[in-house]
Amino acid sequence: MFLKRIELQGFKSFADKTIIQFENDITGIVGPNGCGKSNVNDAIRWVLGEQSVKSLRSGSSMADIIFSGSEYRKPVNMAKVTLVFDNSTKVFDSPFEEIEITRQLQRSTNEASYFINKTPCRLKDITDLVMDTGLGRDSLSIITQGNISSFADAKPEDRRLLFEEAAGVSKYKKRKKISLNKLNQTKENLDRLQDILDELE
Ligand code: ATP
Repeated sequence: MFLKRIELQGFKSFADKTIIQFENDITGIVGPNGCGKSNVNDAIRWVLGEQSVKSLRSGSSMADIIFSGSEYRKPVNMAKVTLVFDNSTKVFDSPFEEIEITRQLQRSTNEASYFINKTPCRLKDITDLVMDTGLGRDSLSIITQGNISSFADAKPEDRRLLFEEAAGVSKYKKRKKISLNKLNQTKENLDRLQDILDELE
């Protein structure tokens, strides 16, 4: 899987529409302190479904990730970030050659919208799409400062989750949990039905 492009608009320090094109191999982002290097990393995690404002190093509300103005610029009302992945190797379970994932947030409503290939979708559709591709929320595809030491210090069962994500097992564990919940629900319904039948007899 290959991240070909990021498009940012109104996200943190990126007031204007900014397109970062990645070439093959390795890309380094360099610049002076505070110029916005880590904001690119935050933008990627935001699109992939990050809901923790704290881990996005922002204020108290998600709307704080929207460009809040500077000495020369007024604040903007919307943040929008799109990630474009090459899907020629079909890492994503989708027939499309390119996968575009977009998250958008309006300041006025504090409401987020999500899109896959420009079609509106739910956050769950994005988490399902990226699950087991190695891009999942808790995977090691994005290593932030302090990540390595917390991985090394993690309890074995927590570390195991990362291996499960990398091995593609998480999706099946999640589906198993949903099925078990449904089975439980059905059993409870049957018990209730039996109670009613007993009363009628
Ligand atoms: P360092 O090298 O010191 O780690 P960096 O290049 O990684 O720095 P970032 O942390 O990505 O820098 O960016 C910090 C900058 O982003 C600060 O100037 C901050 O004012 C700006 N910034 C963060 N959130 C917003 C926002 N909502 N609106 C406007 N600017 C913002």
